[in-house]
This record gives sequence, structure tokens and C-alpha cells, in this order.
Amino acid sequence: MAAQFRRMAMWTWPGAVYNEHPQRMVERLQEGHVDIVIPYICGQRDGHTCWTAEEYDERLRAIIEEAHRADMKVHACFDEVNAYRAMPVYDLRQVRKDGSIGSVLCHANPAVVDYVLDKLRWTLAEFDCDGINLEDGYIFNQNTIYDPAHTTGELFQVVPVCYCSYCQEHAPIEKPEWAQWKQEQLTALIAAESALVRKQKPGAPFSVAARMPYDRSFYAPHKQEVPYFDGWEVCQSRDALMADWAAWLRRGHIDFACPMSYFHSRRLVELETQECRHLSPTAANDIWIGLGLGECTAEYRQGNGDDPATENAKDPALRNDGAAIEALLLDQLRVGQEKVVFFSYEHLLDEHLSVMARYR
Ligand SMILES: [Zn+2]
Repeated sequence: MAAQFRRMAMWTWPGAVYNEHPQRMVERLQEGHVDIVIPYICGQRDGHTCWTAEEYDERLRAIIEEAHRADMKVHACFDEVNAYRAMPVYDLRQVRKDGSIGSVLCHANPAVVDYVLDKLRWTLAEFDCDGINLEDGYIFNQNTIYDPAHTTGELFQVVPVCYCSYCQEHAPIEKPEWAQWKQEQLTALIAAESALVRKQKPGAPFSVAARMPYDRSFYAPHKQEVPYFDGWEVCQSRDALMADWAAWLRRGHIDFACPMSYFHSRRLVELETQECRHLSPTAANDIWIGLGLGECTAEYRQGNGDDPATENAKDPALRNDGAAIEALLLDQLRVGQEKVVFFSYEHLLDEHLSVMARYR
């Protein structure tokens, strides 16, 4: 087995983009031998009243400059489909069957596609980034309020989308072909973004954060080992969220995928890595497993199962400390993976840095 990774990347969320000093951020990442930083780049994200989009952009430029000075690469974490009030297309969000409105734009609507492509064009021109990494909003959100990587403390359910006025007119709503139709709308958006990146910045890697599992049926033989198996029915990427990222890879739209495998359990990360290796014959190169740092594990946040009342939620032993990350990294190397990405800088502890540095 290889002793070292070829690439280590770090997702960096808005709080850290704004609150961490760019020089200190880069110094810490260098200490961990992380060679790619992936800062969240959409400054209009809700919930941050202490800075303007312009101030946020300034901060991003400082991080990019500092990273380049240290010979690190910067891939922009590009969103623009999670819906924020500042967006001119905020009203074009996905609509649930009960009429309530979701928090993700409707990717089927050509006005949304135009908006996203315009923002991508602007981003590529405005920031000196080396690549683009799509945020994980690139899904048809069926209002899965269960997801071990994200939403916690609620029972899982599915309320299908999208019943927006555009879809009412154009989508085969509730017909057998509806699922396929939605997958194709999303794939068409990814293809258009890919074409734009390649035209405007030839050679720049285009990648996505990917939801896991991709297809729950892969795990059926290991059902007993997966405490979230029932819930995975409604958060599997292709058939529930309509994000067929394996097809995006196969068709060459993306250069690599970053499956978000935020677990403390080595076995769950191993199984998800196996699914990825099953999906891509060149997984060592084009699958960068996303590992959760610190509190970013499903077991810590949700508890070890689908029941939100699980007693062991918030058990500090279920966080990914330095030793846990070392075990997960060794597992990745053992199966032949060469690239990895961490979530996220906000949860990066000093004890992680020395561990990471040993493996790249
Ligand atoms: Zn719609």
C-alpha cells in the first residue's frame, strides 16, 4: 500500500473564511500538509449579518493570495443552488407537494440555470481559483429531513418535489418517468457548468461534493452493519435526491467526486468507500472521500441509528479526534485511495495537523 496521499484538501466554511486570519489559515493547512483549500465562495449566504458580500469577497481574495504564495491550490466551493434571500431567483425554489417551499432552487427552471451559469462565469472571472468544487446543494431535494451527514434530531421522511409553476407546466409530475426527468435536468445543469469551466478556465478541475450512499441496494448484504439503513432509503443520492454523480463522472462532466462520508465508524466509511470503488474503475484518482473532523460525524450528531432520540448522540467519544482520523486515513490508503478531503476547517484541531502531516 502507498504510504502517503497524493492530495489532501480542506473544505472551509464561511465562518472560517471570515473569522480566521488568512495567513494563519494557510500556515495551519501547511502544517497538516494539506495542499488544496476549498473555501465557500458565495458571499450572499444567509445567516451572516456581520459582513457584506463585498467584504466576504475581499476576504476570499486574501485567502487565495496567501494560499498561492504558499504554493497551495484553491478550489472554489461554488453553491448558488441553496437558496438565499439576496438571490434574484429566490422565488424560484423547489415546491413540495403540500405547497410548502423548499430551500433549494429548482434546477429544472431555465431561469435558475441562467442565473447559476452567470454566477459561475462571474466567479471564474473574479477570483483567481485553480478549480471549482460544487457544494452539495446540487440535488433535487425531496425534503429529506433525515441525513446522517447533515440534518439531525428529526425523524426521516420524504415529501416529493418539485411542484413549482415551471414544473407544473413542463415536468411529468408523478408519472413513472418523473424521477428520470429530474435526474436529467440536474445532469444537464452540471454538464453546462462543466462546459463553462472548461471554456473559461481550461485545465481547471471541476468537481462536486457528493451525497452518500449513492445507491442503497449496494449495502443490502451488510444491512446488519448499517444502523442508518432504513433512513438511507430517502437520502440515497441517485434515486432519492436525483443527483446521479456517478453518471457525471462517467460522462466526463466532472473530474472527481468528493463523497461526504462523515462517520466515526471505520466500517461505515469503509463500506461507502467500497461503493465508490465499485462505481468508478479509477476511484483512486477521481474519488476523494470526504472525512468529517471533530464533531462532524453522523454518530455524534444523530446518534448511532435512525432514531433521533438515540441516547448516545453527543457522546464525545464519537467525534473524529486525531486518532480516529489517523485510523480512517490508514484505511483509505490500505484500499488504494490516494486523495482525500476533510470537512471542515472550523473543526480542524491542532491534534489533526500532526496526523495529517504524516500521510502526505
Ligand atoms: Zn420545479
